[in-house]
Amino acid sequence: MQYEAVIGLEVHIQVRTKSKMFCSCPNRFGAEPNTLTCPVCLGYPGTLPVPNHEAIIKAVKAGLLTGCKIAEVSKFDRKSYFYPDLAKNYQISQYDMPFCTEGHLDIGGGKGFSGNDLPEKTIGITRIHLEEDPAKLTHFGKFTGADYNRSGVPLLEIVSEPDMRTADEAYAYLTGLKEIMRYGGIGDCDMEKGQMRCDVNISLRPVGQKEFGTKIEIKNLNSFRAAHRAVEYEMIRQAEELDAGHVLRQETRGWNDDHGETYLMRTKEEAHDYRYFPDPDLMEVRFTPEEIEAIRVTLPELPEAMRRRMMQDYGISRYDAEVLTQDQDVANWFDRAAGKSRNPKQVANWTISELLRLLGESKIDIADCKIQPEQLAGLVDLIAAGTINNRIGKDVFSEMFQTGTSADVIVKEKGLAQVNDDGAVAAFVDQAIAANPAQVEQYKAGNAKVLQFLMGQVMKISKGKANPQSVMALLKEKLQ
Ligand SMILES: [Zn+2]
Repeated sequence: MQYEAVIGLEVHIQVRTKSKMFCSCPNRFGAEPNTLTCPVCLGYPGTLPVPNHEAIIKAVKAGLLTGCKIAEVSKFDRKSYFYPDLAKNYQISQYDMPFCTEGHLDIGGGKGFSGNDLPEKTIGITRIHLEEDPAKLTHFGKFTGADYNRSGVPLLEIVSEPDMRTADEAYAYLTGLKEIMRYGGIGDCDMEKGQMRCDVNISLRPVGQKEFGTKIEIKNLNSFRAAHRAVEYEMIRQAEELDAGHVLRQETRGWNDDHGETYLMRTKEEAHDYRYFPDPDLMEVRFTPEEIEAIRVTLPELPEAMRRRMMQDYGISRYDAEVLTQDQDVANWFDRAAGKSRNPKQVANWTISELLRLLGESKIDIADCKIQPEQLAGLVDLIAAGTINNRIGKDVFSEMFQTGTSADVIVKEKGLAQVNDDGAVAAFVDQAIAANPAQVEQYKAGNAKVLQFLMGQVMKISKGKANPQSVMALLKEKLQ
C-alpha cells in the first residue's frame, strides 16, 4: 500500500542570556561540572525563583520572528515529575498559557537535503513556551554523573503542527528554525553543545486517508542529518509493519546513529499525568500591545527576506544569496559592500570566491577582517572602470586583506594602474614579437594556439598591467 508520513517536530532551544532562568547563576556552557549552581537551581526547599527578564523578551522575540500571536497574559506552571536531573521534583514550564501560539515557518523554494527540489510550503507552529532546562546526565557504564550547571538554563520549546510529509521537509524546517533563531539572537543553537535538541513525531497513513495513524516519537536526535535519516528509516519500518498486518502501538523510540536505525525505548500505555498547576511563587506575565510592538521593531531582517531582497536588488542568484546569508555577519558585511558599489553582482563574486576563501584559509572571523565593506566596493569599481584588470585585482585584494589598505592607495603606490594607452601597449607588443621570432613564425604558419603564448609574454613584459583586450587586438593586427 502507498503511505504518507505525517511529521511534527518538537524543538528545544537554549536561550542565550547572561544568567539562568530563575536565579543569577551564569548561563555558560563548558564550565567544570556543578560550579555554576546556587540553592535556587539546586532545588533547595524555601528558595524563591526570580524570572529572567531577558529570557522572557527573547521568548517573545522568537514568537514574533515566527509570526506567532503573543499572549497579553501568560503564566508559569509546575510540571511535576521525579528524576535525578530535576532536583526540585518539578520543572517550571508553561502549560495552558504559553507566550506564543499560532505561528509558522516557510520552507522550500530551492533544493532539499536529498538534492531533490523542495517546493515552497508553510509549516504551522503550534506554540512556543519558556521553561527551565534540567541538569545534564552523563552515563558512564555503571554510574551516571549529573551536572547542575545546565539546571535552570532558559529553554524554549517550539512545537510544530504535524504539517511535514517528508524527511526533506523536516530537515528544511529544522535548518530554517535554527537560522531564524540565530539571526534573531535568541540562541546559538549549537547541537553539539546541546543548545538545540529535537524530537520527531511521525505516523503513517494510507494516501488519501484523513485520520492520523499511530504516532511514534523519536528521541536523542543529535543532528539534523540524524533527524533526516531517522524519518526515512521510520517511514520504511512502519510501512513494513502495516503491510504485514501488525497494529502499531504508540511508543517512544531512540535513534542509534552508528547502526542507522531506531530502537524501542518505551511504550506509552497512557498519557503522563504531570499534575500541572500554576507556580504559586511566580506572578502572571502581562504585555500591553504597545510593549509587544516595541519588541517587534527591534527584530532583524529574516534570512529568507534578506535573500529575496539581495536577489532582487543586486541581481545575484539564489545559490549565491544562500552562500552569503549562511552567516549573519557575512550577510551584513556583503550587504554594506554591495550597497556601496555600482557593481553589486561583482561584489558578490569577490566576496564568495576571494573573501570567504581567504577568511577560511587564515581562520579569521569576518568581524576581525581588515578589509572594510566599502573598500571591496572600491576595488570592484576600479576593475569595472578599467583602472586595473582582474588579475592585478586579485593581488591588490590579497594585499588589502593583509593590511587593510584601500585599493586605490595600493594601485597608486605600486603603480599598478592598467596601461590602456594604445601607444604604450603597442610598445609592449613589439617587444614580445621581437623577442620570440620562432613563435611568430609558427603563428604565421597557421598555429593559432601560439597567440596565447605571445599574449602571456606581452602581459609579462607589462608586469600584468596592459589592458588584455588591447593586447589581443594589437597582437592580431601586427601579426597579419
Ligand atoms: Zn542558580
